[in-house]
Amino acid sequence: MARLPARSLWKAVSGRGGRLLRVGAASKDRVARPITSTTTNGSQNQIVAPKGGTAEDVLEQGARKLLEYVRGASVGSQPVVRLKSPGELKKAFRATGCGLEITGTEEVAGVDELLAAVECVLENSVNTAHPLFFNQLYSRGDPLSILADWMIAATNTNVHTYEVAPVYTVMEAEVLRRCARLIGFEGGYDGLLVPGGSIANLYGMLLARHRADPEWKTRGMNGGPNLVAFTSDHSHYSYKKSAMTMGLGTDNLITIPTDRDTGAMVTEKLEEAILKSKAEGKVPFFVGATAGTTVRGGYDKFDEIADVCSEHGVWMHIDAAWGGGALLSRRQRHTMHGASRTDSYAWNPHKMLGATMQCSIFLTRHKDTLHECNGTSAEYLFQPDKLYTEYDVGDKTIQCGRRADAAKLWLMWKAYGDVGLEKRVDHLYALADHIQERIESSGGKFALTFPRSCTNVGFWYVPRALRPFDFSTADKHALDRIAKVAPYIKNRMQQTGDALIGFQPLDGKPNFFRIVFANADNVTFDDVDQMLERMEAIGEEGFPSKA
Ligand SMILES: *Cc1c(COP(=O)(O)O)cnc(C)c1O
Repeated sequence: MARLPARSLWKAVSGRGGRLLRVGAASKDRVARPITSTTTNGSQNQIVAPKGGTAEDVLEQGARKLLEYVRGASVGSQPVVRLKSPGELKKAFRATGCGLEITGTEEVAGVDELLAAVECVLENSVNTAHPLFFNQLYSRGDPLSILADWMIAATNTNVHTYEVAPVYTVMEAEVLRRCARLIGFEGGYDGLLVPGGSIANLYGMLLARHRADPEWKTRGMNGGPNLVAFTSDHSHYSYKKSAMTMGLGTDNLITIPTDRDTGAMVTEKLEEAILKSKAEGKVPFFVGATAGTTVRGGYDKFDEIADVCSEHGVWMHIDAAWGGGALLSRRQRHTMHGASRTDSYAWNPHKMLGATMQCSIFLTRHKDTLHECNGTSAEYLFQPDKLYTEYDVGDKTIQCGRRADAAKLWLMWKAYGDVGLEKRVDHLYALADHIQERIESSGGKFALTFPRSCTNVGFWYVPRALRPFDFSTADKHALDRIAKVAPYIKNRMQQTGDALIGFQPLDGKPNFFRIVFANADNVTFDDVDQMLERMEAIGEEGFPSKA
């Protein structure tokens, strides 16, 4: 660690009259005076201000509205969504005096109009805190994460160098250390908070390529080995996007089938595909496994995949963006067996844990590879002679500026501890078990599409007119009819603001509801029961029995 001169340094920023940063321990008698601005009230020297007040005034009043919104949104007394067309939205904003269009010639909006526009945003946004918001794999932000997010905005800095983000740099390191321990990386690790699980998967592929072909970094894609990557047919589409983005090409991302019962990649097929590629003169370099597939919630068999990868010298990555939360639960951890053997790992605390978007973790058990792979040593930013520069993380990333997303998970972990986070995860799994039991004991009203692995549950509603419905023997006509039921019910619930829930076909199975439990704070067993009752009522309306 760099030693500071005994003389302590106070640095300050002009314009807000505060100290920029106190570096090291001050010796009282030799403290340099902070440089202060001649203006004491920061808002008075604004070059521009909204009509009728200062920007800070709007912030203060707007913040109160946000706080009220966060407090009220969870109750469920507000609809999930007030569905409007883009034209209707424009009309609603026009009524606030702060229209959505930016024409360049418009009258500027004053304090009142700006605040009315903020209200219009809140009113017309989807209430992701609602107990029946089951759209994808996230829900409302945890209030502590919201606080951290506001703190990150208020301190608006950049976690690329220690000099501008001392606290956040250390926080990020601590969060990563804890996560590395959770996975079980013992012989060292490195990591980053990155903007989303898709980008975390890209990082995994980039590191893998760097290990297989380090010259790619300078030579580019022409003339190197024909690299090929592997992932399951249920894995997230971001693997494809990564293959496109890094110049690998989707033809070189080979799809491995999954077991139809568990949704896990068939490891024997993976090994066959690797051998086949090798025989064709290609170089297998990356296997993208998944912990909690997006639709089905399936967990690949990490121990088996790790065996195959080490046998063939291939980098193993686990996309645990969704299902990584299982590591926090003593009951569910078994699904992650073997995960500690992976070379790299992606996890989204902004999904199962309820951190605000985005909060995504990338980890690798290979120290220094992030820097070797992504570093460019920009001299204007990462000067080796600066104080504490050994803590600069910026050159490990593919970004320049970076948000302090680690603060969100840090604050939540501090407040709830391992035990609190575990409770959260366990409640989500209990909800999934509950709906599964209700479906199985519904006497044919509902049918399970697949048993749950994570907290994803797939199911059909079977209108009375179609009962009993046997999915294994149904002909095309019958399957086409059942495929219309989920979209109909979903659309009705969206129009009435009752619920927002997803559906899709999968593996030749007709459209089914996919409910994913991600909101551990607001969703109760009762909510689930009521939702099923609503589905039944709407289903009978839309597909009435002939009798
Ligand atoms: C959500 C998800 C991703 C993508 O994460 P983003 O943060 O949305 O980019 C990747 N993989 C899986 C399995 C996911 O569920």
